[in-house]
Amino acid sequence: MPFCPQCKAEYKAAEVSTCPDCQVDILPSLAPTQVPEYVGWYAVESVPSEVAGIILKSVLEEAGIDVYLRCHEMPAHGGIKGNAGKSEWGDVLVPTDCLSRAQQCLKTHFDSLREG
Ligand SMILES: [Zn+2]
Repeated sequence: MPFCPQCKAEYKAAEVSTCPDCQVDILPSLAPTQVPEYVGWYAVESVPSEVAGIILKSVLEEAGIDVYLRCHEMPAHGGIKGNAGKSEWGDVLVPTDCLSRAQQCLKTHFDSLREG
């Protein structure tokens, strides 16, 4: 379900595009993605939160790169839940053959954040 990244309120898909309380854009929900087995995936970046992951995902998708967010807390992925030493929420995975392009993309993104 689409949600507000600020107050975490959830909205029906066609209801609104901006949160009326926070005036920020509603983010699409994280639909469970099936990782195609024939593609090698590489964790290009670790993210501290789901929202950070979604932002990086959209940055890479805009560049035409497939992205898969892997949550460390998802029991389906090895049950690493309760990993207290880790501050990351999860990993941003990209197909191995897009890795260098994805890294360049994220570098540009982080550089623009620093300048802003
Ligand atoms: Zn909100």
